Amino acid sequence: MIYFPFENQYVHLGDDFYHKTRPAIVSNPTLIQFNHELADELGIRLSDFNPQQAAEIFSGKIIPADAEPLAMAYAGHQFGHFNPQLGDGRAILLGEIRAKNGQLYGLQLKGSGQTAYSRNGDGRAALGPVLREYLLSEAMAKLSVPTTRALAAVTTGEPVARERLLPGGVITRVAASFIRVGSFQYFAARGDEAAIKKLADYVIANNYPQLADSANPYADFLQQLVLKQADLIARWMCLGFIHGVMNTDNMSVAGETIDYGPCAFMDGYSHDQVFSSIDRDGRYAYNNQPSIGLWNLTRLAECLIPLLDNDTDRAVSIATDILKTYGGHYEDHWLAGMRAKCGIFEAGDEQAGEDKQLLDEWLNIMDESQADFSLSFFYLSLLHLQADEQDNALIDLYENKTAIQQWLAKWRKRIAMQKLDDGQRQKQMQAVNPVYIPRNHQIEAVIRAAEDHGDFTPFYQLYEVLQKPFELQAGKAQYMQPPKPEEVVRQTFCGT
Ligand code: AMP
Ligand code: MG
Repeated sequence: MIYFPFENQYVHLGDDFYHKTRPAIVSNPTLIQFNHELADELGIRLSDFNPQQAAEIFSGKIIPADAEPLAMAYAGHQFGHFNPQLGDGRAILLGEIRAKNGQLYGLQLKGSGQTAYSRNGDGRAALGPVLREYLLSEAMAKLSVPTTRALAAVTTGEPVARERLLPGGVITRVAASFIRVGSFQYFAARGDEAAIKKLADYVIANNYPQLADSANPYADFLQQLVLKQADLIARWMCLGFIHGVMNTDNMSVAGETIDYGPCAFMDGYSHDQVFSSIDRDGRYAYNNQPSIGLWNLTRLAECLIPLLDNDTDRAVSIATDILKTYGGHYEDHWLAGMRAKCGIFEAGDEQAGEDKQLLDEWLNIMDESQADFSLSFFYLSLLHLQADEQDNALIDLYENKTAIQQWLAKWRKRIAMQKLDDGQRQKQMQAVNPVYIPRNHQIEAVIRAAEDHGDFTPFYQLYEVLQKPFELQAGKAQYMQPPKPEEVVRQTFCGT
């Protein structure tokens, strides 16, 4: 048996906020993976774990006791264009769970059939995107990036029609909140201020409880989210992560990474890298992510105006002042993250300008050579204060050898200013520079094996490696390596 400690709250906001919906019943669900560690953190109790029963629950065939399945309403700006009516078209919230840490988490099936918000979609997910989200979101968690988590993945035993017929899957994901910027926009577009307040109170109670008694909790909520979002996107940037579809309906008000679609980690570094096949103008390119974060927060601030002050001018000025803090927060988090990646741990404000210049210079050299982003940082973490043959692994990644050698000389001057010895610095650098990231070509290989041959071994193997991304693991060298020319994945697809 699996027992879920449901404590559903969203359902009490009223039926303007959702449609009650039962998942589709699929013919032959099979469990691929269940995340026991996460289940334990959530307080989900298992007695005699039965994979077949788990498959039936996590495909939506059996509704667990106390679940109240529903599809949530939301709107959103998609590639800059406002759509007042989106909503969970292929996801169903089973309910909310109070985890051991006291936080309320939503539990959602994705790919479990049509809802009132499906429009022309089939409400299904192909197996590939399910495996991709499972791997990516769990890898992000192990890389210390705030993210939704993956609790279970199943195959449905039913084909879904995409460019061709593909096996169907369902992922069960867990979030500190499934409320998006677009959830607020949904009610703002309808001029429903009472609903905006209800939604904001729900978010504050569950995700910002420390603000409940503050003088202006709505302003403080916006300020806290601005901080979280700046930190989140700085973390993405420091890992070379590209979300791919930063629409306002894909931005969580809890500051977590959500909606893993055509996202990707960069191999060769390029400032304006885009993978998503649907992002034709590069709106969500790597180096645009910080400013898009602010654009999305501005859309949220617009929705919150009626709550910030009775006087609209004052409300606008409160919102403007808060939004102005985003840029500085982002720069601070980015610099702190990048300094650590480069082994700069003893750093004051007076060195910030020079350090930023040093970091930007390296990124330019990396861009010029399209050198591998993650390997560059990992190899840097192996270097000594004195140049030696260890440098070669890093230099080999660069076409422009002179540029990287000159940069290394500058870097050595900078780290020589610290008291840390080689061993200490290397250890601290290796705690923030992953050896393994979920590389596109490996995910592609996982998906091909699973979709084409029903073989999940590559999925399990990659998942295992990504559990300990900062530890060099014996016999796993192939997972460190960038793709061979013929393995390069140039585009990623939503697969919906
Ligand atoms: P996303 O690409 O996940 O951000 O989804 C954008 C919108 O399209 C959301 O409202 C989704 O629920 C909806 N959607 C995406 N794929 C499907 C599908 N296969 N069936 C129904 N709705 C979908
Ligand atoms: Mg979405």
